[in-house]
Amino acid sequence: MPICDMHVHTRISSDADQAQENNVLTFCETAIKRGIKHIAFTEHCDIIPDPGAITCDVAEAKREAELAKEKYGKELDIMHGIELAHIHRPECKAFAQNVLNDVTPDFVLGSLHINDDGTDYYTMDFSQYSDEFLLSSLDDYLSQIIHFAKTCDFDSLAHCTYPLRYFHMHSRLGIIDMKKYFEPYGELFKTLMERGKSLEINSSTLRGDYKQPLPCFDLIKLYVDLGGKRFTLGSDGHHFSLVGTKIDEVEDYIKSLGVQGIMTYHNRQESFVKFD
Ligand SMILES: [Zn+2]
Ligand SMILES: [Zn+2]
Repeated sequence: MPICDMHVHTRISSDADQAQENNVLTFCETAIKRGIKHIAFTEHCDIIPDPGAITCDVAEAKREAELAKEKYGKELDIMHGIELAHIHRPECKAFAQNVLNDVTPDFVLGSLHINDDGTDYYTMDFSQYSDEFLLSSLDDYLSQIIHFAKTCDFDSLAHCTYPLRYFHMHSRLGIIDMKKYFEPYGELFKTLMERGKSLEINSSTLRGDYKQPLPCFDLIKLYVDLGGKRFTLGSDGHHFSLVGTKIDEVEDYIKSLGVQGIMTYHNRQESFVKFD
């Protein structure tokens, strides 16, 4: 049984299944049935005007999370989170701060979906791009996420190898020599450690045939070897049927590396939760 799911999207996020039943309550009911102890609702808030940006009504997200706490708070540790993206961009900082001041979430998942130059892996047609372009866009992603980790206000860094989900989907993963990325990812992980931030392990890609989480197993090992101890685990499920899926696989892997537990967040304060 997975201990937690710290990254889920209900119908409040514009890219999630919009069916009425895809709501906080069905997520909680499913989590309880699956023996999950901790859940964070992390609706999208992409603070950019790009056409591919995904967002939500942040006030509604807060109301819904509070409703879930009222109804199921005794059986389940429920956190009101937010997936706040692109807040490293100078033009987004003030807006991000206003969102945080207004909705006072328990937990902030920091993320980056669209590169600063507008490269959007989710919508782009990879077949139109050369290997050279794709590799250089990956370098851009990495330098932007390092900048994000160094400068932004967040609790855990989401899916730090996000482009790889799409490289895999479009059969271009073979052009990447992961060993070359150990150094920059090492820099990213050291930054997270220095700032006391968590690293998210995102299990979404374990549901498909990529067979690796984000970041991949080798990079998780690198983080642990460098002394990284703070993890949040999330399914990134956009439907209640996905809550907690493949988290146990990730849990087993980090346990095998000697990791003792995971992090949860309430009012932006971290708690270490030991594995049973
Ligand atoms: Zn995301
Ligand atoms: Zn997400």
